[in-house]
Amino acid sequence: MVASTQIVLASRPVGAPTAANFRTETAELPPLADGQVLLRTLYLSLDPYMRGRMSAAKSYAAPVGVGDVMVGGTVSEVLESRDPGLAKGDVVQSYSGWQTHQVTQAKGLRALDPDLAPVSTALGVLGMPGFTAYSGLLKIGRPEEGQTLVVAAASGPVGSAVGQIARIRGLRAVGIAGGPKKVAYLRDELGFDAAIDHRAPDFADQLRAAVPDGVDIYFENVGGAVAAAVYPLLNTYARVPVCGLIADYNAASAQEGPDRLPAFYSRILTKSLTVRGFIQTEFVREMYSDFLRDMSGWIAQGRVKYREDIVDGLERAPEAFIGLLEGRNFGKLLVRTG
Ligand code: NDP
Repeated sequence: MVASTQIVLASRPVGAPTAANFRTETAELPPLADGQVLLRTLYLSLDPYMRGRMSAAKSYAAPVGVGDVMVGGTVSEVLESRDPGLAKGDVVQSYSGWQTHQVTQAKGLRALDPDLAPVSTALGVLGMPGFTAYSGLLKIGRPEEGQTLVVAAASGPVGSAVGQIARIRGLRAVGIAGGPKKVAYLRDELGFDAAIDHRAPDFADQLRAAVPDGVDIYFENVGGAVAAAVYPLLNTYARVPVCGLIADYNAASAQEGPDRLPAFYSRILTKSLTVRGFIQTEFVREMYSDFLRDMSGWIAQGRVKYREDIVDGLERAPEAFIGLLEGRNFGKLLVRTG
């Protein structure tokens, strides 16, 4: 009998999650049936969408039940297999959640080749976040050479890929991030044309100065004060792929203050803006194989770089996740469990 250490949702957060919203448990796993595998988690991906799953509010995906294992993408090793397609020792991309072991169906697991790329990249630049950047930018952003793109959360897995793909397509890429280290990384290591700290008191002025020709694509990752500073800078026919609104994920109530919706709609109308939300799964069937081909090539050529922020030990997942929502991660946040 194999036991799995699991982190379950103990209660639903109101506002920012705390350690008390999580609980560690141990569960004995059932014996394998035909077509099943026993997996040991090597890496667990921590992603902003998990804040939505902790809430009971209606969304595009069902919430995690109180007492259930937190969901999440994983890279796992096959410890035992009763499926002809997978063998002991294989490494797969799975959706095992916040736990050390899992018994699951082999069907649907993607085998990874550790010789092609570090297996952890299947959760970052060569996985869901990288694909989000690729599909949202190319499909909704419709990049054109010589235009200007702005993206926030720009040192993270989505934003860093958005900016670098934009540069490959011949755009001017302006990245927004929190703090001087992240800003220096965008400018000096990733080659963004400009990088700005959204916590700087003169952030809006710095941003305006960094986009002398206005903004043609605003890849929306954060919302909040950053979006408020970008919107007045949008050019006629600008595109806004709405990917994420992390500035509001911990909001416990509607914001006080004037109703900005009429001004927002007016700008959409008078500037002929395209504002289009998306969930990356929409484009998987159509674009995933192109993404894997292009992104692997760009990484091999050194045209796309990535950074991982690895935390050791499943027990540190709650603290690391709470930090993700506050910008304490620097790069794709992963928990190494193996
Ligand atoms: P990151 O690893 O970039 O982590 C989130 C970052 O958001 C933090 O590190 C922080 O960076 C930034 N942030 C947090 N609060 C604020 C704020 N108030 N203002 C500005 N920035 C803030 O995350 P990902 O790259 O994984 O995800 C980026 C966005 O993409 C998220 O909104 C996520 O929900 C969304 N997403 C959407 C998908 C889709 O299908 N639509 C799929 C995957 C992700 P900093 O220190 O720089 O402020």
